Amino acid sequence: MNKTNLLLVLLFLLLAIVSCNSKQNKADPKGDRELFHKMYQSLPDLKPLDKEKIHTLRVLYVEDADLPKLSEDDKKELLKEVVTLCRGILGYKIRFKGVGSEDIHSFFQRMKPDFEKPEFRYPVLNWPIPIHDTDRIASTIERQVKKHDKATLIRYFGKPDDRDTMSQHVYKQFIRRLKGIYEEKDLKGKALSNGRFEQMSYAHWSVIAYNLKKADFIITNTLIAGADTDMPIYVINRGGVTSAFVENNLYNPYQAAGIFATYQYLSNGPYFSKMRGSLPKPLLIKVMAYLFVHELGHFLGRYKEYYKLKGSIHVAPTDLNYRRWYQAIDPRIHPMNPSKLQTLKKY
Ligand SMILES: [Zn+2]
Repeated sequence: MNKTNLLLVLLFLLLAIVSCNSKQNKADPKGDRELFHKMYQSLPDLKPLDKEKIHTLRVLYVEDADLPKLSEDDKKELLKEVVTLCRGILGYKIRFKGVGSEDIHSFFQRMKPDFEKPEFRYPVLNWPIPIHDTDRIASTIERQVKKHDKATLIRYFGKPDDRDTMSQHVYKQFIRRLKGIYEEKDLKGKALSNGRFEQMSYAHWSVIAYNLKKADFIITNTLIAGADTDMPIYVINRGGVTSAFVENNLYNPYQAAGIFATYQYLSNGPYFSKMRGSLPKPLLIKVMAYLFVHELGHFLGRYKEYYKLKGSIHVAPTDLNYRRWYQAIDPRIHPMNPSKLQTLKKY
């Protein structure tokens, strides 16, 4: 290679490096994504929890005064029911310990430093997708749809009409449903989504779960709903509603924290009344307790999310009709053979 050619090659390599870096900087100016992934990778693998021991789970209530909430008696009844079902279905012994309740606004204020930590800026700034960002919502949905076979998709979303592909059909349904949710009103008559961006954001609650020190579970009367980059198909089918979830936790010995939201069971607004149907007491408490036990399957048993185990509590409700989900659960298949359950190393 002569000198001119060598210089040209070097120049080309230099340009390639510069353009590559500038691309990376534009998408992720502070390397947040990498910091988040580094933190995630450094988490120790989840260990199985002892079935012989009694596990004490600290519960914190985080409440929005302008949204419907459970009475103190209902809360007690719910937790009592969960303890019994957890032992009967999962075979784990637990007890709950209340650690008080906090107003949701001051709670989020207190959590603000966690949202600003370099490794947690990534989820908070990148996971939520505003409803007007239709391209990103459509591509997220397309990605999720591709993960499942046709029969599963039809079970969740029904059949698309002739003009639409499955992704288009799911996308249209999602937008229609999310709009219905955003039109719900709080107890003061204001739009539900008004001033509640953070408290309705799955990403923010996920960061809260990672950083929670005071409790192992939060029960909140807010609604967790919206579009985000990680929505599984059952969340997409509910119009973006996350009923509850379990996430990694950096501080407690369980290496896990759970978030359990109650708005979708208690709202009498038009969207939820229609999609959920009526859920009178004592059925309401039973249905919520079953959902809680589903989460405890993740929390205590480290079980994966299941999509096809028909009639199993380990499959999340496919839509907002929680009553139908609850009624389809077959108690005879519990406790399930633990060797058949796939477990997680990280949430
Ligand atoms: Zn689940």
